[in-house]
Amino acid sequence: MTERDQQLTTDVRNYCEKIGVDVVGFADPLLFERYSEENRPHAFLKNSKTVIVIGFHLYDIILDAWSHKEGEGIWTHQFADAVVEQFCHGVRRLLLKKGYNSRVIPYSPGLYLKEAAALAGIGPIGKNNLLITNLFGSQVRLRALVTTAPLICGDPIEESKYCKECNICIETCPAKAFDNGKYSREKCYLYLETHKKNLSDYTVIECNVCIETCPIGK
Ligand code: SF4
Ligand code: SF4
Repeated sequence: MTERDQQLTTDVRNYCEKIGVDVVGFADPLLFERYSEENRPHAFLKNSKTVIVIGFHLYDIILDAWSHKEGEGIWTHQFADAVVEQFCHGVRRLLLKKGYNSRVIPYSPGLYLKEAAALAGIGPIGKNNLLITNLFGSQVRLRALVTTAPLICGDPIEESKYCKECNICIETCPAKAFDNGKYSREKCYLYLETHKKNLSDYTVIECNVCIETCPIGK
């Protein structure tokens, strides 16, 4: 069993606070054995001891806009992704100075980020099929790094305490993507594709209703 380091964990948390990270949590790589090989931490760093999940609060809908560079067809959240990636590299450099290797995980192939956040004890996955954080609801952009640093991990969260009596996101989804009792990616994506709001040739806003209507973190 891995012996975990309280002081190092506190140092990482303090550093995250200092650089403006909005959400951070730590998960045990062994919990990822439920996923396929290519989506496990050890696929990215063989002797990793901790998965660090970092989140950036999307405090304005414009931060959640999808955009692509001129001449490229790949849609990303350029600004939010750049911010959260820099957070991850900051933590990586901090741990390197302390003698631990880390690797920032790409988005694809990568870890299942919202599941990783739930395993790190950050928050549950709600009926809206998204991570729910106590402070910011589902309005966070996530990224993860794996590290050989033995940090103290959070308690995995398997169930949403927020959603029990609530059905707001289900009732307000314009695509009726939850009507069969679980999230339908097909219905959601069809709606997203046909209801994009173009802000410019390079930037669009997509449906955000299941994020905006969630009362948690408001
Ligand atoms: S993004 Fe919009 S269409 Fe998709 S599930 Fe959420 S509310 Fe429904
Ligand atoms: S709107 Fe309600 S049911 Fe939907 S994710 Fe938020 S708390 Fe859960």
